[in-house]
Amino acid sequence: MPTSTNQHNAGNLGFLKRLNRSAILEMVRRSPGMTRADIATHARLTKATVGTGVQSLLARKWLTEGDLKKSSGGRPGRALYLNDEHYALIGAEVGVHGLRMVACSLNGDILDQHHEHLPPTTPEITARHLAECLQTLLAGPAVAERHCLGLGIAVPGPIAPGQTVLRLAPNLGWRDVPFLDLLQQYLPAPEGIWLMDNEAKAAAFGELYFRTGDIPDSLLYVSAGTGIGSGLVEGNPWPVVTRGVQGLAGEIGHTILQPGGLYCHCGNRGCAETLVSGWTIRAALGIAEEDDLYEALASRLHDDEVQRTLKRAGQALGTLLLNLHHTQNPSEIVLGGSLTRLGPALLEPALSYFEASQNRLLGISQHIPLRIIEDSTFIAARGAAAQVLAHAIHDPDAVNRASL
Ligand SMILES: [Zn+2]
Repeated sequence: MPTSTNQHNAGNLGFLKRLNRSAILEMVRRSPGMTRADIATHARLTKATVGTGVQSLLARKWLTEGDLKKSSGGRPGRALYLNDEHYALIGAEVGVHGLRMVACSLNGDILDQHHEHLPPTTPEITARHLAECLQTLLAGPAVAERHCLGLGIAVPGPIAPGQTVLRLAPNLGWRDVPFLDLLQQYLPAPEGIWLMDNEAKAAAFGELYFRTGDIPDSLLYVSAGTGIGSGLVEGNPWPVVTRGVQGLAGEIGHTILQPGGLYCHCGNRGCAETLVSGWTIRAALGIAEEDDLYEALASRLHDDEVQRTLKRAGQALGTLLLNLHHTQNPSEIVLGGSLTRLGPALLEPALSYFEASQNRLLGISQHIPLRIIEDSTFIAARGAAAQVLAHAIHDPDAVNRASL
């Protein structure tokens, strides 16, 4: 459980102070520019408690002060913001065709990024390669001077709940891989929080957690790339990712859209991925795995065969989006992944079907927003970095590691 009182720690003064700092930090993170008085009002803490907590967070370089501004009642106070200069969060994604990594500030701004093409290979070679790239990133000028809070890794398959084991990555041919342990053998740093999650779940988390101001109650991220996955995240202050008992929740690529259809990499027939995925589009249009799908198609996008294939895939994507709307009903849907680069030929059939159908059941006019990310290269890696920050702020066990 995130920052709720815990029987074991309830009488521990240090723990209670940390809870207060966590609540204050979370409030400033979500609503930058709050004053101490604003926080006291909203968090129902005494002004003295907020004053002590803010002082401690300023000293630990989590917060900075801005200009004087009007507070909610009383004298003007200093606006408070996250200190974006001191800490770094590292996130990386192991994709089917490459490695992506970012260093972020506390606000989620990307300080440095790197994308390395790597054809599917063994977990060991991938871990070694990723470790080398991360060492370069950590030593770079944008990161080296900062205090690193930890490392989050996003992987293309379901994670065993409560463990750091990748259960299956069908498009890499990996099964039951303790990837974080492997990586640790090659990468001694950074110290701090290490975690691993499915790429679509990490992306969903980052898209919600780094949002400020008008924050949706829940957000569903659909990752449409070589495979198709999704992640649902909801609630605050520490948003919960829906996982399922085996970590399979959100594996929409393997929901059946065509009983008795083509065989999928998972062994079942007629999965959504056999109709819409990077691998099925490649197979249909004869594009080799080592070629970049977008670049291979760029000059052929207006060919009839390509248009037909993408339209069919887009219609399947629209079906998936509508199914997700009816099964998960998130406040907002975000569509990312390398397939969005294929543009209107794929997206238009999906969006027009979704828009035309989303209100049929209830017969209302409420519009569930669907946002498309055209370049989602670093979205999952940034989401994994967001998960590091959430652990640093909300996880009581991270107290010593994150110096909150
Ligand atoms: Zn399947």
